[in-house]
Amino acid sequence: MRRIIDGVDNLDQLRVFRPGEPEYATACATFNVLAPLRPALVVDAASAADVQQAVRYAAANGLAVAVKGGGHLQPVPGDGAVLIILDRMAGVTVDPSSAVARVTGSARWGQVLDAAAEHGLAPLNGSTPTVSAIGYVLGGGQSPTLGRQYGYASDHVTEFEVVTADGSLRVVNDTQEPELFHALKGTRGNLGVVTRMDIGLLRHPTIYAGGIFFPGEQMTTLLPLWRDWAATLPENAGTSVAVDRLPPVPDLPPHLRGAFLLHVRFAFTGPADQGEALLAPIRAAGTAVDDSVAEVPYRDSALMHADPLNPLPYVDKGLGVRELTDEALAAFLGAVGPGVDCPLVTVEIRALGGALDRAPAAPDAVPSRGLPFQVLGIGAGGPDDLPRLRAALDRLVEALRPWRYEHQMANFMTAGGAGLRDVYGPELYGSVLAVKHKYDPDNLFRVNFNFV
Ligand SMILES: Cc1cc2nc3c(=O)[nH]c(=O)nc-3n(C[C@H](O)[C@H](O)[C@H](O)COP(=O)(O)OP(=O)(O)OC[C@H]3O[C@@H](n4cnc5c(N)ncnc54)[C@H](O)[C@@H]3O)c2cc1C
Repeated sequence: MRRIIDGVDNLDQLRVFRPGEPEYATACATFNVLAPLRPALVVDAASAADVQQAVRYAAANGLAVAVKGGGHLQPVPGDGAVLIILDRMAGVTVDPSSAVARVTGSARWGQVLDAAAEHGLAPLNGSTPTVSAIGYVLGGGQSPTLGRQYGYASDHVTEFEVVTADGSLRVVNDTQEPELFHALKGTRGNLGVVTRMDIGLLRHPTIYAGGIFFPGEQMTTLLPLWRDWAATLPENAGTSVAVDRLPPVPDLPPHLRGAFLLHVRFAFTGPADQGEALLAPIRAAGTAVDDSVAEVPYRDSALMHADPLNPLPYVDKGLGVRELTDEALAAFLGAVGPGVDCPLVTVEIRALGGALDRAPAAPDAVPSRGLPFQVLGIGAGGPDDLPRLRAALDRLVEALRPWRYEHQMANFMTAGGAGLRDVYGPELYGSVLAVKHKYDPDNLFRVNFNFV
């Protein structure tokens, strides 16, 4: 549907969808089918100039701007906002000589992985190829495969092109408007619409990676062992565990359908035989139901968490944990372990550390350096299931409260979760706010976890 928007100049033509039009519902859909966006109108941008026009229109009409990349975490529905979608701008080009990917619009990690793999290169992608690369990097971006070796994905961004609240298209990097460049890394779309990023890639054509599913009943012995083993891993290895209560759905192989399992994930960028030796104590500690850890093309490691690839209805809650003592593990098992009537489909613990703890070369706004463990619980189900799922998430958070770390991964913040000031800490929060006041004084970009 083509319409002329009455913006500040009435000149440019933008593709616009309004409530009731067939394209509106698709444009407003998110990965969580319980949480579609509800803007006053959608601008389906085809260029940075379209984004500028949409932002100017919103500013001139006193409307908020919402941005959808891959649609994987929209904490508020954006009632009455101008939603800008970036799918027509999605693109990836890789310069093999500099090992830099140029990513535009809402390009997903899957697209970046494919383009990088042609040159034996690997991005610092997350656990699913369907998340948008820019949306992920704006929250720092913790890669389960390469994060502990190379730090947050945002550490590797060399440049952003961004439309700010005044409608300007700015190219920002370490020397051009560095204050804005640095504050964009970790603040999840509070400062403008990022239309393009340049991000460094790493040379890893293959990786030793995958996951092992153990029967859930074995987790009481496996979890403490995993914790102790994870602490001994070199920085070029990463791991996480998930307590899974998988649904009895046909897309799963028969032996995983409806099963209660502990899923141990592992990734190692060194030689496969060394990876195998590192993993041996875990393999020996239980009787695996399924074991996919092997040397694979780097691209295939994007599926090692076995995250769902299609939208589903769910609620979630994330929290940082500062240590997993025996008491903390007992509390965790008491909330989600064997014998507990827990309705959550998955509860994950990621072991962080390594380069994720190191200060970046230039300042940024990633709040989770120094965070040892990130926990995320997910309950899947329709509206009728929500009270029970929410109660189970509350029990999980409550059980881990004594070990809670106030900081957490910005990308795993959840609606109604910890306050932003606590997650970022007063100093980082204050410095981001100063940049926000300079570039977005009227808080146009407020359909997000908002810095106010
Ligand atoms: C299954 C799953 C697995 C995940 N695994 C990981 C992981 O391994 N590591 C990790 O760090 N995170 C992970 N995440 C979290 C994910 O990185 C964040 O939710 C991320 O913000 C999603 O970006 P998106 O563009 O896909 O989502 P959206 O919902 O479209 O965007 C999320 C936020 O970013 C803003 N935004 C997106 N694009 C732009 C842009 N171009 N300009 C300005 N603002 C923008 C949006 O306005 C919104 O506030 C995972 C999420 C899911 C659902």
